[in-house]
Amino acid sequence: MEHKPLRILSIGAHPADVFDQSGGTMAHHAARGDYVACVVLTHGARVHDTVISDEMQHRSEIPEAAELQKLMAERSDVKANEVRQACKILGVTDIFFFGEDDAVLLVTEAAVKRLAKLLREVRPDIVLTHFPKEGDTLTNPHAITGQIVMHALQHAGSVDPGDRNPPTRVAQVFFFGQGAATIRYNLWSSEGGYTNDVFVDITDVVDKKLAAIDCLVSQGYGGAYARKRIETSDGAFGTAGGSAYGEGFISLNAETHYYLPVTEAALTRTRLSDHEIMNRYSYRIKAE
Ligand SMILES: [Zn+2]
Repeated sequence: MEHKPLRILSIGAHPADVFDQSGGTMAHHAARGDYVACVVLTHGARVHDTVISDEMQHRSEIPEAAELQKLMAERSDVKANEVRQACKILGVTDIFFFGEDDAVLLVTEAAVKRLAKLLREVRPDIVLTHFPKEGDTLTNPHAITGQIVMHALQHAGSVDPGDRNPPTRVAQVFFFGQGAATIRYNLWSSEGGYTNDVFVDITDVVDKKLAAIDCLVSQGYGGAYARKRIETSDGAFGTAGGSAYGEGFISLNAETHYYLPVTEAALTRTRLSDHEIMNRYSYRIKAE
């Protein structure tokens, strides 16, 4: 069947988020010829930064305002360059840096309108972003980002004076899978709440994802953390979906099909023995 390229926009709060939550998925779609772009909402200069959050912690006094601001601007540039490098590895060409301050991230009209304008321009079919109820839902920057995105999607569906682009709607939102949600192995895990219900088998591109996360040095993600993260998080999602490594998502909208949906992965699994399935789980990335 002729494949019409999809348009996918992955929106993360901090520079590393789109990679550790959707790096493999983005690599798959970019390789298929789909349009894949990402938004980095905050400059992320404070988040796990080697200079701003690590060194400053142990000083008796931090630099005065102007010097600190200059330093943060420099660190933001370092982070943006790491994001560009990581995107190159995954085949993602368009990156939109919004440069919001990561100090006190709030759902503001300005942030919502700016993102809505981008949505009308880019016109994605699918949006990937943080779950709006992550953590405490109140101060968690991932949750706030998810909320800004939901407001922006709502607003993008109507016109806005000053924006000549027509309204746009997305077909589906996949929220980044997260630990607070049950992993949906099957129906019985879904009792009592939302679940990580969609998994993308990223085993074939896990090395690419690792190389992308290794670029995020300023954040402390390169090296041991990248490996631990992939083993624990992507490994758990993989196990749920019957692969070595997976990325988990929480789908927003109910789906309508003409025929009953069954995935290639599910059909393949029916032909495997118990031990063959365990062997699939057991594939591991090479140690550093
Ligand atoms: Zn983050």
